[in-house]
Order: sequence, then C-alpha cells, then structure tokens
Amino acid sequence: TKVLVTGGSGFLAAHILEILVHRGYEIVTTVRSEDKASKIRDAYPNAKLSIAIVPDIAQPDAFDEVVKIPGLDFVLHTASPFHFNWSDAKSELLDPAITGTTSILKAIKKYAPSVKRVVVTSSFVSMVSVEGLQDPNKVYNESDWNPITYEDGLNGNKVSAYRASKTVAERSAWKFVEEEKPAFDLVTICPPLVFGPRVDRLSSLSAINTSNERFVELIQGKWKDEILPSIGVNLWVDVRDVAFAHIAALEKPEAGGKRFFTVTGKFSNREIAAAARRNFPELKDKLPSEETKGGDYPPVVPGYDNSRATEILGINWIDLEKSTIDNIKSLLAASA
Ligand code: NDP
Repeated sequence: TKVLVTGGSGFLAAHILEILVHRGYEIVTTVRSEDKASKIRDAYPNAKLSIAIVPDIAQPDAFDEVVKIPGLDFVLHTASPFHFNWSDAKSELLDPAITGTTSILKAIKKYAPSVKRVVVTSSFVSMVSVEGLQDPNKVYNESDWNPITYEDGLNGNKVSAYRASKTVAERSAWKFVEEEKPAFDLVTICPPLVFGPRVDRLSSLSAINTSNERFVELIQGKWKDEILPSIGVNLWVDVRDVAFAHIAALEKPEAGGKRFFTVTGKFSNREIAAAARRNFPELKDKLPSEETKGGDYPPVVPGYDNSRATEILGINWIDLEKSTIDNIKSLLAASA
C-alpha cells in the first residue's frame, strides 16, 4: 500500500511516519529542504521510504509532480504552518494552509486517479467560536464549525490568523469534495493542543514545536516562581493518538467522509507541573513546588465529545501523566 505524507519534518508527521514504517507501508513524504530530507532518510535506512522536496506549498501547482506516483493509494496532508513567528499573515500562514490544501486535492484529482482517500490534518480551532468558548454549557463535537472568515485572518491578531488558516483550509477541502466529486473520499482530523514526545532528537530545545513550548519552559525553570496561566483552549491530546488516528482514518472504511474530533480531555498547566513534580524528582530545582501559585483552570473550559473518534478510529486515549512523562524524557534527551 502506497501513502504520500506531506510535511514529513513536522512533530506530528514524524509519529505518522513511525507508524507507517512499522506497518510496512510504501511511503513518499514531502519536506521543504534537502537538510530535512536527509534527517528522515537517516532515521529509516531500511524502510520503503522516499522523499520529495516541495519548497513552497503555497504555489497552486506545488503538488502536481509529487502525486504522480503509480498506484498511490492514500494521501495524508499534514503540512501547514503552526507557529507565530511570521510578519505577513497572507503569505506566511493563510496561503500555505489554504492553497496547500486545495492544490493537493486538485493535483490528486487530476494526476492520481488511484488515490482512494485523503486525510487532512485540521484542528479544533476550525470547530470553536469566540462565543462558544465563553459558554460553560457548550459541548463541542464534529458538527461545530468556526464561523471565522479569511478576512478575519488578516485583522492583525495572530490567534485569529491561525484559526482562519485552519478553518478556511478545512472548509475548502470539504467544498472541493462536494463540488468536484473526485474519486477519493475525504477525512479530516481535528485535534486541540497536541502534547507528547518527539520522535526525533531535537538539536536544541529552541527548535521545539509550538504546542510543546510550555514543557520546555517548565523544565527550564521558567514556572518556578509562578506557573504559566492556563489561558486559551484547555483541551489536549497526545501526539501518538493523533498519529494513530490518521492511520486508522485511512485503514477503516467507515471513517470515509467523516470529520473526527481527536481530544483526550481537559488540562491545566498546574496539572502538568504536578505530573512533572511527581515523576522527575531530579528536576526539583527547576520545577514549581506545590505552593507555587498559578496555572489553574480558567473559568470556562470547553466541553467535548470524543465518542466518534473513540468508536470509529478505536483510540485508547493516552493520559496526561504518561504524556507528560514521555514528553519530558524526550526533551531531557535533547538537552543532554
Ligand atoms: P510542526 O510545526 O512541527 O509541523 C508543521 C509541518 O508543516 C512541518 O513539516 C513544516 O515544515 C510544514 N510547513 C509549515 N509551513 C509550511 C510551508 N509554508 N510550506 C511547506 N511546509 C510547511 O507542527 P505540528 O506537527 O504540530 O503540526 C502538524 C499539523 O497538525 C498542522 O497541520 C497543524 O496545523 C496541525 N495541528 C497541530 C496542533 C498542535 O497542537 N501541534 C493542533 C491542531 C492541529 P518545516 O519543518 O519545513 O517547517
């Protein structure tokens, strides 16, 4: 079985590659540079794995050549910017997210008729709304859509820009399938904040992916005097569960045409600090103590319903204690 994975250098994609390699898939993955390609090649010397360089996914024809793989069965589209170090929302965030998604779907329809299913990594941000996040009775499920528009993404607020990039990208994917009726079906995976260990050994802790930044701050002693406030969306999932969800989404026929809210549960930074303290006594000097203030739950944490992902994809959700332990272990290996 042949699978194309976009954005193979990413935190999540590394776990997806790990599972695909172990299950014996024939894999093609895309990265932006030869430097990133060689790291992946070195990690899997014996796998049926090849790497294509796609320097700019914001180009409408970015994927035209890469999808021309004879007998390609599945595509997992994970590449999308998730960081806040950009200055121009349109060219650095919205275009790669949205055009990246539509261009791969168009390319598959045109040049890869053997593809049966495409799984797009979306996000919980494509489900939330500003009002819903203030409603203590709201329970999110796959029928919820963020009403945010492309224009809202250009209003100068970095969080809105990210939310718009993911929401419009996912909406465009469903619209494409509805209007173009391609031979493949679509699945989207919507995780909230993704925590958990790195597959790769980070060259430096400053190279950490966005959603694991708080764990780096924690082990560097930055929460020692006050725990980082738990603001924003206090829902999380382990990266291994999200990776597994992508593979299950292509292996389970009944997943076709569905959206999945892959969420484990609620978290506060205080709980993360406590889990770290319980399991890493050697980090005592860096970690906040039980008396340290801060990091409590915000007044409203969104309710969630993960029953569709649990039942159809068959996920046994990894808990926050295990996720935190494995995450910190992988960070300690990087900083050693
Ligand atoms: P990473 O930043 O580790 O991975 C992002 C991947 O996308 C990298 O391979 C990156 O390539 C690639 N990418 C980013 N921008 C571009 C671009 N302009 N052109 C080409 N490739 C690009 O983050 P994650 O692994 O966490 O994210 C993976 C997916 O999961 C994304 O779609 C993200 O939106 C989604 N997601 C993540 C969540 C999280 O909390 N981590 C939550 C919800 C959704 P490069 O290595 O070259 O930068």
